[in-house]
Formats: sequence, C-alpha cells, structure tokens
Amino acid sequence: MLPQPVGISHQGHTMVSEFALASIVYFLVVLGFVFPPPEFYGIGLTIESMFRRALGDEAMHFTEYHMRLTTVRLLVHCCILPTYYLSAAVLFEVVELRLSYLLLSSTPLLLSFLVSLYWHAGGTWKNHPLAKTLASHASHAGTWVSVSDALATEFRRVDKFVHGKTWGKIVVTDNWIVRCGLYVINTAYQPDVHMSIQSTDEHLDPETRLTSQFININVSSINPGAADFRIRLNATDYNDLCNKVSGPILNVRNVVFHQTLTERFEEAFKEEVTQNGLFVTDREIQECIGCLYAPSDVKISKLCDDLNTGDCKHCLCRPMWCMRCMAKWFANRQDQSTPERWLSGKAPCPTCRSKFCMRDVQFVSS
Ligand SMILES: [Zn+2]
Ligand SMILES: [Zn+2]
Ligand SMILES: [Zn+2]
Repeated sequence: MLPQPVGISHQGHTMVSEFALASIVYFLVVLGFVFPPPEFYGIGLTIESMFRRALGDEAMHFTEYHMRLTTVRLLVHCCILPTYYLSAAVLFEVVELRLSYLLLSSTPLLLSFLVSLYWHAGGTWKNHPLAKTLASHASHAGTWVSVSDALATEFRRVDKFVHGKTWGKIVVTDNWIVRCGLYVINTAYQPDVHMSIQSTDEHLDPETRLTSQFININVSSINPGAADFRIRLNATDYNDLCNKVSGPILNVRNVVFHQTLTERFEEAFKEEVTQNGLFVTDREIQECIGCLYAPSDVKISKLCDDLNTGDCKHCLCRPMWCMRCMAKWFANRQDQSTPERWLSGKAPCPTCRSKFCMRDVQFVSS
C-alpha cells in the first residue's frame, strides 16, 4: 500500500514544479510582450504586428490607428490574468476550476470590454479620450474629426520627427507634439506649448558598451483640455527634436547632457583609462598640444601584452595629450559605422604613430 501515495505525491510535485517553471516562462513572455525588446519585434510578437490587419494603416489614419491600438492593447493586457488562471486550472490542474474564480480573474477584461464599447459607441471613436483631447484643440466650427485629419495630414509628411517604436513613441509634426503612451495618447498643439528639460538619466548600452543618456522633457499646454505630459528621448536625438519644435526648449535647471556619439565615447574612454592604473612621472605636466589648455594627462605605454606580442607597439613619447583630445583622436580613427567596436579598436599614437589600444592608455600622475 505504501508505494502508491508516494507515487502520487511525486507526480503531484512534478506537476507543481512544472507549473512553477511554466509560470516563470509565462510572465517573462508577458513582460516582453508588454514592454517589447527588439527581439520581440524580430519575431513579430507585438500587438502592432499581431493585430496589423485590425489596426489599419498608421500613415493613412494616424489617430484612428492609435485609438484602435490603445483599445486592443487594453483588452489583450486584460486577458493575461484569466489565461493564467485557466491554464493553471485546466492544463496543470494545480487549482480548482471554478466559475467564481474565472469571473474574478476576468473582471478587468469585462470592464475593459465595456470601456471599449463606450469608446467606440455608434461606430465612431468620439468617446475615446484621444477624441476628447482633439476636440479641445478644435476651433469654434471644428470637431475632433477635423483636428484628427489635420494631424494625420501632417503625419504623412516625410519631415516629421519620430522617436521610438512602441509605447512612449514621440511624433512631432509641423504643428503637433504627440506622445503615444501605453493606453493614453497625449497631444499638444505646438503654438500652445511650453517645453522644458526636467532631468536626464543614463544607461549602459550592453551592445556598444557606451552609456546612453535620456532626456526627460515636460510639455505643458495653455489649453486646459490638453493634459501636460512628459516625453523621453535619447540625447543623441535631441538636436533633431529641436529642429522640429517651433518654440524654445527651456533648460532652466541647467541639465547637462552629451548629445554626440563622440561625447558618449569620451565618457567610456575615460572609464577604461581609469582602470589601467597610473603612469607616475616626476616631470612637470604640460598643456595638451591638441586643445592647448587642458593638462596632458594621458600616456601611451604598451600594457596590453608582452612588448613583442601583438601589433601594439611601445610608445616612448612623453605625455603630450589630454584625455579628451586622445579620446577624440582615437574615435576619429575608428570605423564610424560600427561604434560598438570602437572600444576594442586600435589607433596610431598622434606623435610617433606606434599602434596602441585602449588598454595601453594611462592617466599621468606627478
Ligand atoms: Zn587636449
Ligand atoms: Zn608615441
Ligand atoms: Zn595594445
């Protein structure tokens, strides 16, 4: 009699651990589905590509497309919980299948279904929050439809500014600034807005090993019907945004940011050089011969390998360059189309032309 219960409990344990594993996989996929990384775009696992037909053409019907997209997204996201419950109950049998539990887990779905019926009442989108915001931009005689058409016409022009692919996408046309949120679309009419830089944050890009800086900009409108919102973009795209925005973007907090790739590379270069230890000298440190004002604070010495191994050569030049000028020199001698390889690249010494790599540069200390 003994082996049977042991066998059953063993099977039960396997089911539970399989379910735990399946749960982790499920929530990782859900996480990727809601906040899609580039890989999910590659395999078409995004709402935009799965519902392409139902969503229509963004270029032709910009606002309707985004009204549909936010609605579909809301409905699909609300399916996550009941799907999880059903698979736990039916596929893995780890919980009881009960109608009350199913209804409870489906409550957000039912509510969002009612909300979407309301948004699309009478076959038009006039109740969608975006239509209401657009209506607040309309002049006396206009309706949300005329504003929507004007926005869509500008969106079809090639000179618009677009940043991002999924939610958080920013679109700036001649007269409009649009932020496509997860469920909310913000719009602002350019002549009505004040824009100001709020903050920046930095992230290490694992592919290029360079830090990417993001700028957060507040867009506030004098139109009380249009809520204020915040846009977030890569600092390297800031100049393109400025070119498309008609008014100034205030930087009252004096936020400092690195706009160019070279500036970002300088930061990475500095970090690498810091790790190479110090070159101690008792000689007086002179000014850099590149910029003529910063102290010559870096020295090239072959450190990456033995003196006779590899193609780096030993440089006997005294320190004559500052870190920034050396980083610029180094960056300019790399393949400009593949910045992700710059840190592992090589360059000739600006003075004696011996080849060096990033590991051969040290800060000078006297
Ligand atoms: Zn310099
Ligand atoms: Zn040299
Ligand atoms: Zn080297």
